[in-house]
Amino acid sequence: MIIALKHGTPKDRIGSFKAFLESQGVKVHLSEGASQTVLGLVGDTSGIDEDSLMAYQLVEKVIRVQEPYKRANRMFHPEDSRIDVDTGCGESRRIGAGYLGIIAGPCSVETREQIVAVAKAVKEAGAGFLRGGAFKPRTSPYSFQGLGCKGLDLLLEAKRETGLPIVTELMSIQQLEVFDGVDIIQVGARNMQNFTLLKELGRCKKPILLKRGLASTITELLMAAEYIMSGGNERIILCERGIRTFDSYTRNTLDLSAIPALKRYTHLPVIVDPSHATGIAWMVPAMAKAAIAAGADGLIIEVHNNPEKALCDGEQSITPDAFVVLMDVLKKYAEFEKKLVS
Ligand code: PEP
Ligand code: MN
Repeated sequence: MIIALKHGTPKDRIGSFKAFLESQGVKVHLSEGASQTVLGLVGDTSGIDEDSLMAYQLVEKVIRVQEPYKRANRMFHPEDSRIDVDTGCGESRRIGAGYLGIIAGPCSVETREQIVAVAKAVKEAGAGFLRGGAFKPRTSPYSFQGLGCKGLDLLLEAKRETGLPIVTELMSIQQLEVFDGVDIIQVGARNMQNFTLLKELGRCKKPILLKRGLASTITELLMAAEYIMSGGNERIILCERGIRTFDSYTRNTLDLSAIPALKRYTHLPVIVDPSHATGIAWMVPAMAKAAIAAGADGLIIEVHNNPEKALCDGEQSITPDAFVVLMDVLKKYAEFEKKLVS
C-alpha cells in the first residue's frame, strides 16, 4: 500500500502517523521528495482500510497494491486448491486442481420419485454430485419454499441409492444442525454477503459452495470467501452464476470473464452455473461448454425429469436426455484439457 501525504505536512505529524501505521503490524518506508512525501507499507495490509486512512488530514491519496484478501489470494498460495469430498464408500470426489466436478439435479427436491429418478439419471450420465434445494430462497413469499427437512431426508435417500454426494443450500445458521449428511453446503447468491452466516460457516468443517451475488463484484466475492476462510474453513468452491445487467433477454448475464479473473487472483476452484445465469434451458449446454473452455473447474446444472411440472425453475432445467448429450461432449473436453470427470 502506498500513501501519498499532503504537501507541507510537518515532520512531527509524519512521524506520529508512521508510528501509528507501524503499530498495525506493517513496515513503513518513508520517501521524501522535493514536492511530495510518500509512505510505502510492506507486509500484511489486509487489516488496513484505505477509506479510513483517507480520513486523516495529512493523507492525499492511498493506493492499494496488494488485494485486501489474503487467505484466498493466489499470491500466498500459488498452487490450485483441490476440494476433496468423501463419499463415505472409501472414495473421494474432487473439484479443482485438474479435477472437473459436475453437480447436477433439480432446483428443488419435490418428491421421492423425482429426486431418486433424477439422481440415478445424472449419475448414469457421469455427474459426480447431486444438487437439490430443500430450503429455497424465492422472490415471492407465495412461491414454493422447498420441502425443508423432509426435502433433506429425500436428498439423503437419493444419496444412499446412488452414492452421489449431495449439495444443498443453507439459508440460515439454525439449519446447520440438520445438515449433518450434506456433503457440500451451498451459500446462495442472495446470501453471499450475509456476513453472520459466512462467519459461522468459517467454523464449520464442510466444503462451501459460495455463489456470486446478483450484483457483486469479483473482489466482493473473494472477500466473502475470505470471511469463511478467516474463520478456519478453507474448503471453498466459488461459483459464477450470472449477474444483473441491462439486458432482460436472459435471466442474468453469465460473466464468463469472471472465470479467468478469479483463477488469476485465487487458488480456490471456480465452477459455473449456466442454469441460473441464463434462465433458459436451451442455452444451458452452450454456456456449460463455454465455461469449461474458459477454464472452469466444474459446473452446477439444473436437471429435471419433467421440467414442465417443476415447482421451481422448470424453464431453465434440462432433461436427463439433454444432460446425457451434454456430458458426452464435456467428457471429450475433459480429455482434451487433461482433466478427469470426478
Ligand atoms: C439455486 O441454486 O437453486 C439458487 C437459488 O441459486 P442462486 O443463489 O445462484 O440464485
Ligand atoms: Mn434454481
